[in-house]
Amino acid sequence: MYPSRCPVCGNIVTPRQQMVCMGCANTFHVIKNPKCLKCGKPLEQEEQEYCFDCTRQTFHFNRGMALWVYDEKVKKSIANFKFHNRREYSKYYVQELLNYYREEIIKTAPDILVPVPLHKSKLKERGFNQAYLLAQGISKSVGIPVVENYLIRSHKTKAQKRLDNRERANNLHGAFALNSSYSEIIFNKIMLIDDIYTTGSTIDACAEVLLQVGVKEIYFLSLSIGRGF
Ligand SMILES: [Zn+2]
Ligand SMILES: [Zn+2]
Repeated sequence: MYPSRCPVCGNIVTPRQQMVCMGCANTFHVIKNPKCLKCGKPLEQEEQEYCFDCTRQTFHFNRGMALWVYDEKVKKSIANFKFHNRREYSKYYVQELLNYYREEIIKTAPDILVPVPLHKSKLKERGFNQAYLLAQGISKSVGIPVVENYLIRSHKTKAQKRLDNRERANNLHGAFALNSSYSEIIFNKIMLIDDIYTTGSTIDACAEVLLQVGVKEIYFLSLSIGRGF
């Protein structure tokens, strides 16, 4: 096996069995309280209960949790993971997700984990679904199964980056669907897994589909999330 690269600085990690350089280990900002009671975004003030987006908008999911603040460093790491095929980064990501959220995932007790799907053309281009790698790693540790293609991305959407909230929601409208092979298998409680949560429109579009087919409770776990103020 070729040596692993550090998910923070991109250099070869020494000693080899480590996943991250010693000096890089605590670079990413773990989200601490106060956080939004709905989506888990970090908040500025203790007395706030919900973030700006969750105050204005009703989401279809019940609650979410996220590990790191989506800042420039996390953004770069995830971009290298996805676009430069650094699949090994998922080991570190999963390890950290479990460090902070293992208990909460078990307590939430979803029936299955569902990675946010990629459109098949994107999956072909990238070779893997980053959210699936995260879900798979978590599943192995907590013993909750992953159903990789429970949801499908039925049409291609524009990149969300340059769109505002309303445009993002419109862009995603009808983008996801329940995989028809599962139309008879509706779970009660699902946890969606993704790498980045910003405005919540992607997770919410998935949650909306799941609610429509009869899923009762929807949670999410995201590797990173934007700030809530
Ligand atoms: Zn490093
Ligand atoms: Zn929120």
